[in-house]
Order: sequence, then C-alpha cells, then structure tokens
Amino acid sequence: MRCPFCNHEDTRVVDSRLADEGSSVRRRRECPACGSRFTTFERVELAMPTVVKSDGRREPFDEQKLLRGLQRALSKRPVDTQKVHAAARAIQKRLRETGEREVPSRLIGGYVMEALRELDPVAYVRFASVYRRFEDVEAFSAEIERLRRAYEENDAQQLSLLPEKKGGA
Ligand SMILES: [Zn+2]
Repeated sequence: MRCPFCNHEDTRVVDSRLADEGSSVRRRRECPACGSRFTTFERVELAMPTVVKSDGRREPFDEQKLLRGLQRALSKRPVDTQKVHAAARAIQKRLRETGEREVPSRLIGGYVMEALRELDPVAYVRFASVYRRFEDVEAFSAEIERLRRAYEENDAQQLSLLPEKKGGA
C-alpha cells in the first residue's frame, strides 16, 4: 500500500491483529521512505452490487424480487421451497463474488436461468420464453412510446401551421 504522507510506493506491515471481535484485521504500517506510521483495516465486503437495468437506470438489489421471480417461474412445479431459497442465496453469493459495485440486470437474469435449469427443466423452458419475450416487449413498447411522442409532436406542429397555411391560401 502506498504511503499516504509521502506517496512512496510501498509500506511495511509492522503489526497485525484482529479487531472488532475478529471481523476485521488492523494493521500498523510503516513507510521506509519517510518513516511515517499509519493504520489500515481489512474488512469483508458483503454489500450487494447495484443493479443496472437495460435502460441504464440503477436500483438497489432486491432479495425479495429475486425470490419472487424464482417462485413465479416454479409455480405449480414439484420443487422444494428450501431448494428455491437455497438457489436465491447461491445467486446472491455469486453476485457478491463478482466483487463489482454494479452489475447489469441481464447478469442476474442469466444466473436465474442457470439456477432454473438445474432446479426444473420444465420451469427453465417456461421462464426462458417469458424472459426473452419480456425483454422484447419492453424494448418494443419503448419504441412505440418514442414513435407516439414523435407523431404527437408532429401533429402539434402541423396543427399550429394549419391556420397560417389557410391564411396564406
Ligand atoms: Zn512515506
């Protein structure tokens, strides 16, 4: 670690001990260049990454949403509830293990698909079609909305031009 006082590229650990009842490691470091001493703490990063949606919006990871998605895909399928919860936990673990602050929602979708394929092939097929269709519908409705606005603006412009045209004629 770089020295915060003189910016020297490396510092030496002179002492290392557990802190916060074992949940972190406290280290005393010394800079060989300027002789300064400072303390660092090493902690486990357990925060879930933020989800980046396909339109660029960001939202906090929602554990219940993930579980509901799995449960919906597995509704009326002979899959143990405990296995569904375990799959949701495994997906969260994978997301934490990416070490990323932000992950695309498509990555989570991909993990869900992999989990479903293992839990229940029938649900996997069902969810795969819904998932793909949903992505298409979302993109499709966004395009419809864009066109509708363009038409409305166009109409408004033409309406405002009409009296002038009439007047000119
Ligand atoms: Zn230094």
